[in-house]
Amino acid sequence: MQVTLGQSAQPATLDATCPVCHARDSTAFIDIRQVPVHCNLLWATRAEAFHVPRGDILLGFCPHCGHVFNLMFDPALMEYTQQYENSLHFSPHFQRYAETLAARLIADYDLRQKDIVEIGSGKGEFLALLCRMGANRGMGFDPSYVPDPALEGYDQQVTFVQDFYSERYADYPADLICCRHVLEHIPTPRDFIANVRRAVGSRRHTVVFFEVPNVLFMLRDLSIWDIIYEHCAYYSSNSLAYLFQACGFEVLQLQATFGGQFLALEARLADQPLSMTHVGGESLEQLHRDVAAFAANYREKVETWSHRLAEYARAGQRVVVWGAGSKGVTFLNVLQTRDQIEYVVDLNPRKHGKYVAGSGQQIVAPAFLRDYQPDVVIVMNPLYMNEIQQMTYDLGLRTEVIGV
Ligand SMILES: [Zn+2]
Repeated sequence: MQVTLGQSAQPATLDATCPVCHARDSTAFIDIRQVPVHCNLLWATRAEAFHVPRGDILLGFCPHCGHVFNLMFDPALMEYTQQYENSLHFSPHFQRYAETLAARLIADYDLRQKDIVEIGSGKGEFLALLCRMGANRGMGFDPSYVPDPALEGYDQQVTFVQDFYSERYADYPADLICCRHVLEHIPTPRDFIANVRRAVGSRRHTVVFFEVPNVLFMLRDLSIWDIIYEHCAYYSSNSLAYLFQACGFEVLQLQATFGGQFLALEARLADQPLSMTHVGGESLEQLHRDVAAFAANYREKVETWSHRLAEYARAGQRVVVWGAGSKGVTFLNVLQTRDQIEYVVDLNPRKHGKYVAGSGQQIVAPAFLRDYQPDVVIVMNPLYMNEIQQMTYDLGLRTEVIGV
C-alpha cells in the first residue's frame, strides 16, 4: 500500500490528461495496487478467486474542473459477463429512492404518455417504473441486456435494444433520456456525451437525466471502501456540469441526492454555445483541500484497520465480514485478509457457496454463523447495523457487531 500526496503523476507513461476538461496537470493522491478488476464477479472455487484479473488504481485530481479519475485505468481489462451481481437493487432503501425519483421526474417534465430512453438500462427496473407510473413508452439500451421474466408484464410499454445508444438511434423519439450509474464506468466521457448530444439531434424539448456517485461523499464521509477498479471516474458537481456544458447542453438542475451519495443532473440542448459556468456546490479550492485531507485520512483508516485485524488474529478471535457487495470486497482486498478472515455473510442466496474475488473468502448465509460462532462481525453497510444486530441476537450469538 502506497499513498502519494501532492506529487504529479509519474512515471511519464501515465496520461494525466483530464478526461472531462482535457487539462494536463492532474495530481495523483491515492495509490492502490493490484485490486480485482471486477469486485462483483463471484467465483466457484477459492483457487479461481485468488487468480482473478487485477488492476492498479492511481486516483488523480484535476484542479481545473474538479474531476477525480484513475490515471492507471485500462479499459482492456474490463469485460462484463452475466455473472455480474449488482447488489444495489436488493436494498429496499434504494428501491424507495428510485420510486420517489421516478415520480419527481414525471411531475417536473410532464412525462405522461411520452417516450423515454434509458442508456445502460440493465434489467430495466427503473425504465419499467417510469413507464408504469406515467403510462410512458420506454426503450432501454444495454449491450449486456438479459431478459427478466419479472418484467414481462410491461412488454408492450418497454422495449430493449442490445446495443450502445448512439446517433444511429437519433430517429427514435425521446422526451427523456436517462442514464444512471453508467458514467463512472466510462473512460472517455466527452465522446460518450457528444454521442448522446448527436442522438438528441435538434429536439430542444428532450431532457437528459444522469445520475452518478458523488465524489464529495467519498471524500468527506471517508467512504474509502467505495473506491473500486470498475469506477474509473468520480464526479464532483463541477466536473459533471463541465462535461455537459462542454458537449452543448444547458444544465437545468444539479443536486446531491440519496443522502448526499449521488449527484443527479438534468440538462437540455443549449440555445447557444455556453461559456463554462460554476454551477454551485463546493468551490474548486475547497475540493482541492478535501482531496488533500482525504489522502492522509485514507492511509490512517487503512492502518487502523490493519492493526485491529492483526490484534484479532493474535487473540485467536474469529472475524466475519457481513456484506459481499463491492464495499466488502474492497475491504477484504485492501486489508489483505486472505489469511485472517475465512467467511463473508450475505443475504443474497445467489451468492452463497461462491468465493470473493481476490481475497478468496467463502460467502455464507447468516444461519451458518450458528455453527461457526464468530467473535466479531464487521458490518460493511451502516444502514443495516440494527437489522444485523437483531439477526445475530436471534441466531443466539454473543458476538461483537461493529461498523466500518
Ligand atoms: Zn478537468
